[in-house]
Amino acid sequence: MTRVHRIVMLGAPGAGKGTQAVRLAEHFQIPTISTGELFRQHIRTGTELGELAATYIDGGNLVPDDITIRMVKERLSRTDVEGGFILDGFPRTVVQAEALGEMLGEEDITAVVELWVDAEEVIPRLLNRAATEARSDDTAEVIRQRIKVYREQTRPLHEYYIKEGTLREINAVGEIEQITERILAELER
Ligand code: AMP
Repeated sequence: MTRVHRIVMLGAPGAGKGTQAVRLAEHFQIPTISTGELFRQHIRTGTELGELAATYIDGGNLVPDDITIRMVKERLSRTDVEGGFILDGFPRTVVQAEALGEMLGEEDITAVVELWVDAEEVIPRLLNRAATEARSDDTAEVIRQRIKVYREQTRPLHEYYIKEGTLREINAVGEIEQITERILAELER
């Protein structure tokens, strides 16, 4: 019997969540759901949601919970997630985590992968990404705000998922491939 993986990626901005999410999705042949990417799609296509989201994203702040939760709920109602999925960038607040628990019901999260990197490593990584991907929210000032928001609003999820018993902490310093191996080993335990 194949195991269904419903995985949440946690970690500071620049910890490599997106990179690892894509690699895990490929490995398990399941979709990645990135809320940041969903918002950027809305911004690119010029929807009302995109216009609203941009005002928060460009300042390094979180898009309000109700808007974000509604978008994820819609995405998780599609049939392609039935065999599992990787969530990249959601939840980012305790309110979102509770909403996710409710959305999933019996079919709850199977693992929360928390990527750990040194704070000093994150900022150069993000500035480098700013140069290569041209993301409007990767300027030094916005990066600082995103890290602050992470510390204040997202870090409590560490405790939250310890209590839920699903947290798997991963040392995310090293080569991309090596980190994927660490995650896969941890998921097999
Ligand atoms: P990311 O690509 O995951 O770094 O997300 C980029 C930006 O999108 C974040 O800095 C937030 O402004 C917004 N965003 C992404 N996911 C969420 C979320 N779960 N809740 C609120 N805002 C989010």
